[in-house]
Amino acid sequence: MNPFSLAGRRALVTGANTGIGQAIAVSLAAQGTRVTCAGRRDCDETLALIAAAGGHADFLALDFADPLAGQGVFAGAGYSILVNNAGIIRRAESLDFTEADWDAVMDVNLKALFFTTQAFAKAALAEGNTPAAVVNIASLLSFQGGIRVPSYTAAKHGVAGITKILANEWAAKGVNVNAIAPGYIATNNTEALRADEARNAAILERIPAGRWGAPEDIGGTAAFLCSPAARYIHGAVLNVDGGWLAR
Ligand code: NDP
Repeated sequence: MNPFSLAGRRALVTGANTGIGQAIAVSLAAQGTRVTCAGRRDCDETLALIAAAGGHADFLALDFADPLAGQGVFAGAGYSILVNNAGIIRRAESLDFTEADWDAVMDVNLKALFFTTQAFAKAALAEGNTPAAVVNIASLLSFQGGIRVPSYTAAKHGVAGITKILANEWAAKGVNVNAIAPGYIATNNTEALRADEARNAAILERIPAGRWGAPEDIGGTAAFLCSPAARYIHGAVLNVDGGWLAR
C-alpha cells in the first residue's frame, strides 16, 4: 500500500479558489481524493487545474460571513478530509482597532473553523468515515506577535489551541487534527509585501531558505498530513516556513 495515497477519499477545502487553498486542493486531488472546492466565489480555475491533471473536483458555495455556514454540508456526503484554509487579515494599530475588524477576522479565521470542523467530525464519526483528517491553516502568528494585526494574531493563536484540544478529544476516535503554520508564502495576500522593495529584501534576508514559499509547499504538506503516513501525528502545528522559526 502506498502510505501517501488518498485514493477513494472525499475532501473539502475552504477558500479553494486561490493561493494556498488552491494548491492544497490540487495536491489532494493528485493523491486520488475527490475534492470539494469551497469558496465564497467560483473556484473555476482550481477545478480546471484539477481536471487537467486527471483529478476529480466539485464546487460548493460557502461564505463564512456566516460562521455557521458549514453546518449543513457534511451529513451524508462521505467526507473524511477537511482543510480549514479560508482566512482574512485586517491591519491597524491596536489603539485604533475596531470591533468590526475584530469580529470579521474572528468569525472567518476562528469561529467558522471551529464549527465547520465540529460539523465535519459529527458526520464522519456518525457515518463511520474514519480514519479522518482535519488540517487547519495556522500562521507564524500562531507563535509570534506580529505588528498591527491584533485580531489575526489572536485568531491564529486560537487555531493552534483548537488544533490541540480537538486532537486530544478525537485522536482515539480515528480523527487526526493537525495544523500547518506557513511562513511567508507568495499569494495575493502577500503581494503588497513583495512589491515593497525594502520590505521584501528584509524578509528574504530573514528566511534561512532565502526565498518566499510557494503555495505548493503548503499543498504537499497538507496532503501528507491527511495521508496514512501521518496516522500517528495528532495535534501538531507544523512550521512550513523555510526555517523562519529556526532562526
Ligand atoms: P488568499 O487571500 O489568497 O486566500 C484566502 C482565502 O480565504 C480565499 O480563498 C478567500 O476567498 C477565502 N475567504 C476569505 N474570506 C472568506 C469568507 N468569508 N468565506 C469563505 N472564504 C473566505 O490568501 P492565502 O492563500 O495566502 O491564505 C490562505 C490561508 O493561509 C489563510 O488562512 C491565511 O491566514 C494563511 N496564511 C497565509 C500566509 C501567507 O504568507 N500567504 C502565511 C500564513 C498563513 P476570496 O478569494 O473570495 O477572498
